[in-house]
Amino acid sequence: MSEKTIFQKIVDREIPAPLVYEDDLVAAFNDIAPQAPIHVLIVPKKVIPRVGEAEAEDQATLGALLLAAGKIAEKLGVKDRSKGFRLVINHGRDGGETVPHLHVHLLAGRDLTWPPG
Ligand code: AMP
Repeated sequence: MSEKTIFQKIVDREIPAPLVYEDDLVAAFNDIAPQAPIHVLIVPKKVIPRVGEAEAEDQATLGALLLAAGKIAEKLGVKDRSKGFRLVINHGRDGGETVPHLHVHLLAGRDLTWPPG
């Protein structure tokens, strides 16, 4: 079995990180190097390396990631359209992926430019 990712160790509570949100399928915690005033990572408890490797059986987990994003945005006060947030999923080298455990970045709290870098 391959070594646990840093995110799996956080989900398994082997590495302490306050959870912003948790349900049966996903957990969320603050990014260690925030790129915005709010920068939360939402990860599935099941290890899926990256979004393009998710299977049909992961449909509920993929949905749970986005539903969690909405709940977290509401909890952090950025769900209203007058504020708002951005969700990012990096896949592979060109996508900027550095941790091989699927995660959704939730960024908010500043005017996020477009196109992204
Ligand atoms: P990505 O580049 O999309 O794979 O995103 C990985 C993210 O994980 C980066 O934004 C890192 O800052 C973040 N990160 C790495 N290690 C930790 C950690 N121990 N706790 C929280 N966030 C982390």
